[in-house]
Amino acid sequence: MQYASTRGGYGPVSAAQAIEAGIAPDGGLFVPLQEVKLDDFLAWRELDYAGRARQVLRAYLTDFTEEELAHCASNAYSDRNFDHPQVAPVVELAEDLFVLELWHGPTSAFKDMALQILPYFLPLARRKNGGDQEIVILVATSGDTGKAALEGFKDVPGTRILVFFPNQGVSEVQRLQMVTQAGGNVGVVAVQGNFDDAQGGVKAIFTDPQLRAELARAGFVFSSANSINWGRLVPQIVYYFSAYLDLVQKGRLVAGAPVNFVVPTGNFGNILAGYYARAAGLPVHKLICAANSNNVLTDFVRSGTYDRRRPFYKTLSPSMDILVSSNLERLLYHLSDGDSAAVATWMGSLQREGLYSVSAGVQEKVCRLFWSDYADDQRTLDTIARAYRQYGYVLDTHTAVGLAVYENYRRETGDPTPTVLLSTASPFKFNASVARALLGEVAVQGRSEFALLELLSRHTGLAVPAGLRDLDKKPVRHKRVVEKSQMVLAVREFLGLA
Ligand SMILES: *Cc1c(COP(=O)(O)O)cnc(C)c1O
Repeated sequence: MQYASTRGGYGPVSAAQAIEAGIAPDGGLFVPLQEVKLDDFLAWRELDYAGRARQVLRAYLTDFTEEELAHCASNAYSDRNFDHPQVAPVVELAEDLFVLELWHGPTSAFKDMALQILPYFLPLARRKNGGDQEIVILVATSGDTGKAALEGFKDVPGTRILVFFPNQGVSEVQRLQMVTQAGGNVGVVAVQGNFDDAQGGVKAIFTDPQLRAELARAGFVFSSANSINWGRLVPQIVYYFSAYLDLVQKGRLVAGAPVNFVVPTGNFGNILAGYYARAAGLPVHKLICAANSNNVLTDFVRSGTYDRRRPFYKTLSPSMDILVSSNLERLLYHLSDGDSAAVATWMGSLQREGLYSVSAGVQEKVCRLFWSDYADDQRTLDTIARAYRQYGYVLDTHTAVGLAVYENYRRETGDPTPTVLLSTASPFKFNASVARALLGEVAVQGRSEFALLELLSRHTGLAVPAGLRDLDKKPVRHKRVVEKSQMVLAVREFLGLA
């Protein structure tokens, strides 16, 4: 399997090269150049999660050996890292509605599904590529990727990791998870700005030829742990197949019957993995893209115009507070049948003018595969409260956006297809909002997020995940705050080059 840049200026390269590079030098993202078909996936029914993962990975990472992939998958998806024996269990809410819990990893958000395995891929990839430089992983995070990447890469030999997060753009639990991070190869820096500022800054650093040359001389090479890295997308394809197989195993789905997936969406990485699963043969009817008030994707799916020129809202689902959804670029590449010139034009227009419109042909394909709507903060809180009453199930704010949008979908289309809602975070990760929804404003006022963790645990009878306990008692190790213009300086400082 070979990969090339969505913008046509780089490739073909191997999977190992795509994973090590993270982003293509022309600013594009790596996409697979051949089709993958996993038509015999029903035969994986009896396999555990790591076994299913191996089957998916081997189809895309063809330059990795079976032994290597087995090693990566069994170490990443072990009970040392995941607190549920099925890794990503499917829970039934109603007859045709299921929740896929993707947050049983060490940081309580779905990012662990990929970021527990990427640290195994990267050193292998570098060895295959013949490199001996130290890999410097730069991460921009809206809150969850940062911690998951830090946990995955801490003390991994031959790597260093530097995380930028939007100062005041993350929850208190998310912030403390990051600034208390231990490990000899880790750095965490707050940026004065929002996620798009942090992500834009990191992308600019990656594609700065002068800085790359300077790093190369010092024995370093950049890579990325954001979902722009192909090595993060592939592991996410796995759980779409795994959820389907679990439903067949439980007798809730006839083998071969279609399902919908509802995905709370920010950078379009998670839902794009669903697109790849469908392209590889999983019987998916609709991919339902759920947005919060930063509803740029909803407008895009409905109109074919992507317009980021709009106010940026800080919402109760902060991991979806994104106006520039990087991975959409990959979808546009595939839906335009690999028209990299068109993709480059659209992305250039987004950069310069803040918007682009795709061709009617591409828009028609988008509409056939996707459906989208959004839910605001009040609707999110109402949905958490009602889901608890109706199903006895506690949703986090992101997953609640997903459920609210699914209810709209069902009402507007009447589509009875069995549907899987991807649950992207543990309710304890966004406990302040969840407690507010379940217990009311008054019960929450004046209480710290840590008092609320306990309160929520007592009220729901659910245990606080291990990684979220005692966060307020750990020493703060990372205190640096920079302007967006100082991100390059922060990188130099971290590497001892300043
Ligand atoms: C990252 C994240 C999302 C958005 O996922 P994308 O792949 O960026 O679309 C949704 N919910 C939670 C909890 C997240 O951490």
